[in-house]
Amino acid sequence: MLLTCPVCKGELIRNGRTAVCANHHSFDYARQGYLNLYLSRGGSHGDSPESVKARTRFLQRGHYAFLKDRMRELTASFAHDVTVDLACGEGYYTAALCGNDKYGFDLSKDALKHASRNDPDTHYTVASIFSLPFADACADIVTTLFAPLAKEEIMRILKPGGVFISVTPAPDHLLELKQALYDEPYLNTVDEPPFPLADQLQISEIMKLDKDGIQDLFAMTPYFYHTSEKDRRKLDDIDSLAVMASFLIRIHRKPEKQ
Ligand SMILES: [Zn+2]
Repeated sequence: MLLTCPVCKGELIRNGRTAVCANHHSFDYARQGYLNLYLSRGGSHGDSPESVKARTRFLQRGHYAFLKDRMRELTASFAHDVTVDLACGEGYYTAALCGNDKYGFDLSKDALKHASRNDPDTHYTVASIFSLPFADACADIVTTLFAPLAKEEIMRILKPGGVFISVTPAPDHLLELKQALYDEPYLNTVDEPPFPLADQLQISEIMKLDKDGIQDLFAMTPYFYHTSEKDRRKLDDIDSLAVMASFLIRIHRKPEKQ
């Protein structure tokens, strides 16, 4: 196992329902199968249960299956002994990635409960993606979909020559939803790539959403938290909507020598 102790950084060894390091720091596996290596006490972190539920329902309808399938194809095309998905959420994409030994990290226990029940072969772990309990230079592939990029940690855990794949919304992603909500909808901005690019592609598909699909999509976007009650109500009057999902996939390779 490539997980490391969050206290002393030593290697963790699995012993039944517990993971232990040489210094006897010990961490219990949850009933559902994930491991909590996040040291902050109390409270819940990461996405709320409501937003996890909305996203799970939406993803189970298959609207983003074309992205999942593309991620499977992409990861199959690179060496994939060890694959790590950062901010993996409920593991919808993680489960589809190619990897002989797979790891998924997220702060949301609610999301990881779901992930580890559905995909018991992946090591799902509660941890901050900015302080990963993971060995240096062991990952062949690291992925981050729709989450901040933990640049230093990504470079630390990747093998030399390893591949990092990021997925972000393309400028016109969900534009029709924003047109329904706002008087002046804006295009998404795309950040400069964090590392030199090896390749980049954009994939798009039009989703035909019913009333529930519209509400779930809205609840899983950042707009949910930034939209006025008045604008929100506009969605109540819409029974169906065609919305384009459009993603920018960027592929980076860690240099063999630094
Ligand atoms: Zn330790």
